[in-house]
Amino acid sequence: MSRAVSEAPSIGAPATGDDLDRPIRGALPDLARHAAMLRRLGIETPRQALFYLPFRYDDFSELRTLDDLQPDEKQSARVLVDAVRVEKGFGRKPQRVIAQLSDATGSAEAVWFGRRYVEARLRPGLEIVISGKVSERGWRRQFTSPDFSPADHDSLHTARVVPVYPLSGGVSQKRLREVLATILDRCLPLIADPLQPDERSGLLNLTDALRTVHFPEDEADVRPALDRLAFDELLALQLGLVQGRLARAALRAPVLGVAPDALAGIVEQLPFALTGDQRAAVDEIVADLALEQPMRRLLQGDVGSGKTAVAAVALAVAVRAGWQGALMAPTEILARQHHAGQAPLLAALGVRAAFLSGSLPAAEKRQIHAAIEAGEVDVVIGTHAVISEAVTFRRLGLAVVDEQHRFGVGQRARLQAKGAELEPHMLALTATPIPRTLALTVYGDLSISTIRELPPGRQPVRTEIRDRRALPKVEAFLAAEAAAGRQSFVVVPLVNESEAFSAASAEAEVERLRGRLPELRIGLVHGQQRSADREQTMAAFAAGEMDVLVATTVIEVGIDVPNASVMLIEDAERFGLAQLHQLRGRVGRGPHRSFCILLSDANDELARRRLEVLRGSTDGFEIAEADLQLRGAGNLLGTRQAGLPPLRVASLFEPRHLKLAERARELADRLVGADPELRQRPDVARLRRDFAPREEEGDAA
Ligand code: ADP
Ligand code: MG
Repeated sequence: MSRAVSEAPSIGAPATGDDLDRPIRGALPDLARHAAMLRRLGIETPRQALFYLPFRYDDFSELRTLDDLQPDEKQSARVLVDAVRVEKGFGRKPQRVIAQLSDATGSAEAVWFGRRYVEARLRPGLEIVISGKVSERGWRRQFTSPDFSPADHDSLHTARVVPVYPLSGGVSQKRLREVLATILDRCLPLIADPLQPDERSGLLNLTDALRTVHFPEDEADVRPALDRLAFDELLALQLGLVQGRLARAALRAPVLGVAPDALAGIVEQLPFALTGDQRAAVDEIVADLALEQPMRRLLQGDVGSGKTAVAAVALAVAVRAGWQGALMAPTEILARQHHAGQAPLLAALGVRAAFLSGSLPAAEKRQIHAAIEAGEVDVVIGTHAVISEAVTFRRLGLAVVDEQHRFGVGQRARLQAKGAELEPHMLALTATPIPRTLALTVYGDLSISTIRELPPGRQPVRTEIRDRRALPKVEAFLAAEAAAGRQSFVVVPLVNESEAFSAASAEAEVERLRGRLPELRIGLVHGQQRSADREQTMAAFAAGEMDVLVATTVIEVGIDVPNASVMLIEDAERFGLAQLHQLRGRVGRGPHRSFCILLSDANDELARRRLEVLRGSTDGFEIAEADLQLRGAGNLLGTRQAGLPPLRVASLFEPRHLKLAERARELADRLVGADPELRQRPDVARLRRDFAPREEEGDAA
């Protein structure tokens, strides 16, 4: 670990700790000429350079003899240069430099393309260490565009574990490696470990961790070093959660109490009896609402488990207590459905509900705004429009957010401000359950209610996995279901992360299906359509005027069509398990036997196993756990998923890191408990600022 990393120059005035956060140009004047290159990578200060991490390593540490080189692998050898020749390029053919190499066991050659002036650094008789990818040319071994250095010279690029950094803007890997090595040499001694030895949970100190992450002696050393950086990141996350909880403890919310018989009266008005889990969730929520402390509760349960019904009871309780409520959904379609579904229910509970969305005519909007402000509306159901600046509640007591992971944190915060001097209670509904271990880590500041039990009488959806050869049969099945009066969804995946590409593929699929099934009425919805058109199509499908609806994932959290009995998902392996489970939840909502067909030609083991999980389970929590385990394997750096905070080093799919997260939470409690503003621990406060996920890039999915 102590091996010198520098072959790059190490001159200039010694920097001080303060220099770590000054612009490179000022902090390390002799590196000023590299400042522009670093800026292209987003590196402005020495500290940012220290935390600019490799995304993989090439292990060139083992020196092989030439007769032992394996084709198609990256390897190193110590060799003698026998001859060098330059072949001029012409036309579209680039110049080539070819070196003949030998050692005691045999010979090989090396080739470089283009004008790279390598010939100036090579001469016959020179002994070099060469590292790079080896291929077989006839029966000769050839290094293609390898790195090399004189054998008597310690190199950053050869005969060691070599870091490979993410690059952009024409920055060269070698140049960056050298500059980072210099910065490491000069600045690592200046960095203060924010954690005291007893706080590190047995992990490396920060200096060793950073040195090792950049220039490991051995690739096996990387993992413990990354663990230390992951711990810091998780600690930052936990510090934020603990501080947030403390700040909220100082806030007061309206006390929305309800007498037991009044609650019983509300529940009796419902057209069905609550399930045991729903009842338990209602009790937990009602207990929270009666406190002066603002509720922050997550209600999780599968699609159709009856979360909205629970929310309706909570809203009725708030209204009974003399306050207003809001119910917000991520899309206009969902909000309209909520309104259509909840308004009668709420009316039965004596609640005056109004629908509000940005698409309403201005005059109507103004009228509703006025009614909300005057307190003539009890519950507003709508989209983001509900939290737009123009809406002022008279007394907002409870805000319910459906599919909370689709809302940015910033938006949630803005809603809170609508409560005037008192903070409204918040209830977030989610059908994307996250495993308990994760929930504690990510939502450490939320209380959680869970509905696992489905309302009685639901038929489980039968799930099948098919490949494309079965397509004709599947199409015949869609036709048969249509003949029986049922309807089908056909979902095409998001292509290249782009709605535009996906829309095109959905359009192509509609054309294909119309050709195959000319007697069926087939509609199309995708995210590139005007929302009014999309809604019209969805409404027509919901009204039974279409047999098949082809869609991109825009329908994921979408509509409720009890008559739909088939969910066909194409290229199913491209979806996350949670997403597939959500999509499947679109069917089986009525009395009909329903089917989910996962079409997939993937034959890799992991893809098959993931789809099998879905076939084998209808329990969203079980599926989430399995997804966690299947993904956990082989993750070096963090993974992003909707609803989870973006982490750079830590992976919430990594069981080791989940354990670290627990320890980080304990430490965060201890640190913030002793010193809420972290005034005595400026380095820890900095860590919290530097490492904490930024809210804007949060969880808008
Ligand atoms: P979620 O919001 O979890 O997707 P909903 O609250 O919208 O679920 O409920 C789904 C459907 O089940 C709705 O039609 C609702 O009226 C009905 N439902 C909810 N709870 C029950 C229950 N306890 N018994 C029977 N039906 C119920
Ligand atoms: Mg719902």
